[in-house]
Amino acid sequence: MTKYVIACIDNDVEILDALYSKISRIVDSDYIIESYINAEQALIGCFNNIIAGNEVLITINGNNNSNITCDEFLVELSKNSPNTKNIIFKDILNLDSLQNIINNSSVYKVIPRQLKKVDFELIILEAIKLNAQERRLKEYQDVLEAAVDKRTKELNKINVKLNVLATTDSLSGVKNRRSFFESCGPIISYNRREKKKLAVLMIDIDKFKLINDSYGHGIGDEIIKLMANKCNSTLRKSDIFGRLGGEEFAAVLPNTSERGALQAAENIRQEIQNLEYISANNKRIKFTVSIGIAMLHPQDVDLEAILHKADLSLYAAKRNGRNRVEISKEEKQNN
Ligand code: GH3
Ligand code: MG
Ligand code: MG
Repeated sequence: MTKYVIACIDNDVEILDALYSKISRIVDSDYIIESYINAEQALIGCFNNIIAGNEVLITINGNNNSNITCDEFLVELSKNSPNTKNIIFKDILNLDSLQNIINNSSVYKVIPRQLKKVDFELIILEAIKLNAQERRLKEYQDVLEAAVDKRTKELNKINVKLNVLATTDSLSGVKNRRSFFESCGPIISYNRREKKKLAVLMIDIDKFKLINDSYGHGIGDEIIKLMANKCNSTLRKSDIFGRLGGEEFAAVLPNTSERGALQAAENIRQEIQNLEYISANNKRIKFTVSIGIAMLHPQDVDLEAILHKADLSLYAAKRNGRNRVEISKEEKQNN
C-alpha cells in the first residue's frame, strides 16, 4: 500500500527531532516521517521511497550543507514528484536559490526558522489536505478521460459502420447509387480538365424478370450478388463500380480508351456468360448481361450526361440481341 512521505531536512539533529515530534502527533501510520541531515541524503531517500511506490507528500527544507544545494534537490525531486508541497525553513534565504526553486520546482510555503512563531501543525495538515484534494481531482480526471476515450472509440466505430451502411448496397455489397455518384464526381472533373480518356459502362442482366419468375426472387437476389462480385473482381482496382438499382450496374474506368473499354466490357460479358449459379436444390442457372459503353467528351458536364449515352448504347445492345457490348454512336462515327 502506498505510504505518504514527509521528508524533513536539516543539519541540526535537534531541529529534526522537534519536527518529527510535532508531525508524528498529527499523522497516522499511513505516513512516514523521514529525517535527513542534508539534501544529498534526502534526494537518495526520497527516490528510494518513490521507487518503493510511496508518495513524497511534503518536504521541509531547513539548513543544509552538502554537495547538493536545497534548490538542486527540489528541482531534481520535482521531476519525479511534481505535486510535492515544499516548505522552505531556513536561516538565510538565498534569492538565486529561491528563483531556481520557483522557476523549476515549486514552493508551498516559506516559514521562519522558529517553529514557535508559526502554527506548524496547521501548515502540515493543510498541505496534506491540499495534496489529497489534488490526488482526488487527478483520479477523477483519469476516470473522466478514460470514459471520454472509450466513448470516442465507440463513436468512431459507429461512424465507420454508419458510413459503410450509407455507402454500400446492402444486397450486393458494392457501392450504392449515391456513393457511386459521389466517388465518380471528382474523377470525372479531373479527367475532363486534364483531357484524359475515361469510359463509362452500363451493365444490365438480360431477361432478369424471367429469372425471377422462373426461380423466385430469392434466387434472383443471389444472381445479382454473384454478378456484382464477378464484375468487381474483373474490373481494375482503380475503376469505380456500383449498383444503380435493380439488376443495373455501372462502372467508371479512368484512363481508359475506347479500345480498353471495349475489352473490359467484353471480359465482363464473357466471364458472366461462363458463370453458373448452382442453387440449394442443385439447379444450374446461367445468365448473361448486356453492356453499353460511352466515352467522356468535353461537352459532358457530369456523370449523368455520360451515363445517359451509355444507357442508349445499352438499349442498342438489348435491341441487337442481348449478351452483347455496344459503344455509343459518336465513338463509332469517330473510328
Ligand atoms: P432486359 O433483358 O431487357 O433487361 O430484361 P429484364 O427482364 O432484365 O428487364 P426488366 O427491367 O423488365 O426487369 C428487371 C427486373 O428486375 C424486374 C424487377 O422485378 C427485378 N428486380 C429489380 N430489383 C431486384 C432485386 O433487388 N432483386 C430481384 N430478385 N429482382 C429485382
Ligand atoms: Mg435487365
Ligand atoms: Mg434493367
